[in-house]
Amino acid sequence: MRTPIIAGNWKMNKTIVETKAFLDEIKDFAVDGVEAVLCVPYTDLAIVKENIGDYIKIGSQNIHWAETGAFTGEISPLMLKELRVEYAIIGHSERREMFGETDETVNKRVHAAFKHGITPIVCVGEKLEEREAGKTKEIVKKQTIAAIKDLASEQVKQLVIAYEPIWAIGTGKSSTAEDANEVIGFIRQVIADQYDQQVANEVRVQYGGSVKPENISTYLNQPEIDGALVGGASLDPTSFKSLVEGG
Ligand code: PEP
Repeated sequence: MRTPIIAGNWKMNKTIVETKAFLDEIKDFAVDGVEAVLCVPYTDLAIVKENIGDYIKIGSQNIHWAETGAFTGEISPLMLKELRVEYAIIGHSERREMFGETDETVNKRVHAAFKHGITPIVCVGEKLEEREAGKTKEIVKKQTIAAIKDLASEQVKQLVIAYEPIWAIGTGKSSTAEDANEVIGFIRQVIADQYDQQVANEVRVQYGGSVKPENISTYLNQPEIDGALVGGASLDPTSFKSLVEGG
């Protein structure tokens, strides 16, 4: 049985003051049988660590592969560990499209996260033109294989993958639950081919792309979908709680 995981991706939103106000609204919130994560900007991690209960886990939106060094503007796994970060989004399409993230750097970040006991949430997904050209499976297969290269099966079992069709992120256009379920089942098959079925059965694969309280249950009802990675709708505390409650 895979535990569903709902992760909020705040992207570049919320100052420390705004974060504190959000946290005041979710004090003592917890839902049985669902894991909840908030992936906040680096500048908010300390205030989240000081003000969040045990239930909601803390996530970052990236992680560098080196522990220290001349990498201006990057954040190392050691720094994140001190801030009680347990998850790191890796390879979000905004990083791939705007900041030069590649399949190779995604794989380096995934290895670094595991080395330091941080669980990667690896994002994969196709662009609109790739979907229209019938290349969705080819793209997600390539991204998935590259991201998990040289991982031990015990690591793959702990991995979280977020299938996020790029055309559905922040656009209000979501994939149908059936389509998302099919692609996610395919991702699981790719992992089974690389490792084995038992490993593939343990990997959690979320859907992401314009998920809201009003539509989340349609995704969670699908057999292959193990939760959601949510941008815009995770910024409001009432909406975030409703997402974790399953809509
Ligand atoms: C995301 O940021 O990963 C995302 C899916 O955003 P949104 O929910 O706003 O589409």
